[in-house]
Amino acid sequence: MKSLIIANWKCNPSTLAEAKELFNKVKKTDAIICAPFIYLPGLKAKNLCAQNCFWEEKGPYTGEISPKMLKDLGVEYVIIGHSERRNCFKETDEIVNKKLKAVLNAELIPILCIGEKKGEDANQVIENQLKCDLDGISEEEQEKIIVAYEPVWAIGTGDFCEPVKAVETLKFIKSKVKNKVLYGGSVTSKISKDYIDTGFDGLLVGGASLKADEFINIIKNV
Ligand code: PEP
Repeated sequence: MKSLIIANWKCNPSTLAEAKELFNKVKKTDAIICAPFIYLPGLKAKNLCAQNCFWEEKGPYTGEISPKMLKDLGVEYVIIGHSERRNCFKETDEIVNKKLKAVLNAELIPILCIGEKKGEDANQVIENQLKCDLDGISEEEQEKIIVAYEPVWAIGTGDFCEPVKAVETLKFIKSKVKNKVLYGGSVTSKISKDYIDTGFDGLLVGGASLKADEFINIIKNV
């Protein structure tokens, strides 16, 4: 089965011109591109992903973007529960749960990020996140979600989780849910294939997705 490769540009690049330049270099790949909201309309293409959204459809929620608005733009995927949102913006599992339901309701595909912080027990954290984040979502709906295992300590640090270790957590996640599971956390072209060989269904790539050549090498290597 073909691996799913997702580029998370985070709050980058600084201008639409740069975003278009990067996009033009990688658009021939099948990668899913998670661009900042403001660039999404300028990147008209398939496989577009938002990095977050609100849980209500519309109303008095200044500054928020709803799943329905994203759907209307032609966006197909939304990242929910990225650790940067959980940590910098204090998103709780309750909020993640509301967002997941809203995204599924709008017929978009959620990419749910889960993972432990340094020193935490991965399985314990993940079991709790899955239980709370998926609460009240039917099994049929749950299966539409793509899960990304992203150890928080590995994100943006260069300190990736060794594939032999990550696969243990992958097995644990697969024992709990039937979803596709991706790995994310300091992935580079040197190690991208190892995660796929150990059984991950794809990769969520942050920093390395901002360098077109490196990102294309990550894809070629898997
Ligand atoms: C991410 O943003 O989800 C991520 C995995 O980032 P990085 O690849 O930079 O660690």
